[in-house]
Amino acid sequence: MNRCLLVVDYTNDFVADDGALTCGKPGQDIEHDLQTLVKQWVEDKEPVVFAVDLHHKNDQYHPEHKLFPPHNIEGTDGRKLYGSLQGYYEENNFLDHVRWMDKTRYSAFAGTDLDLYLKERGIKEIHLTGVCTDICVLHTAMDAYNLGYSIVVYEPAVASFNEEGHKWALGHFENVLGAKVVTIDERAEKI
Ligand code: ZN
Repeated sequence: MNRCLLVVDYTNDFVADDGALTCGKPGQDIEHDLQTLVKQWVEDKEPVVFAVDLHHKNDQYHPEHKLFPPHNIEGTDGRKLYGSLQGYYEENNFLDHVRWMDKTRYSAFAGTDLDLYLKERGIKEIHLTGVCTDICVLHTAMDAYNLGYSIVVYEPAVASFNEEGHKWALGHFENVLGAKVVTIDERAEKI
């Protein structure tokens, strides 16, 4: 089956110690497994999309303006991928199956061409990683469900600042959205 790996919001602002809206350690702890997964997909020539939050300075009309401190502002280091993933992305972003996609809402489908991108390639299964499990990953999964995609979530490659929210979202993926919540090793078995 054609499928796509989606890496949601794994940027400095959401993961680094000094990030503007950071998950902190839980986000940093998934770096190795996330990197392993991304490398597998890139080497297997399967599509990888980095869906990355984009905000503009002092955008008072954005609904997050009142909810969160400014984060992932255009042109800042906060928008770069966290840790070794940024370098890996820069080395491989010339490849057709590696794509950066700006998003401006929690869901990677909201206001983007992600659905068209997936449909053009006959992709019916979306594999989710990144942060935060209970915010942007969750909203992306909900839209994927409503659009008819099958969903796989890698438990060791998603994280949140909110442990309770993280656990709740994992249950929701499985029990309400019909997702497979899996480990990294299960990927190797070509689920
Ligand atoms: Zn945001």
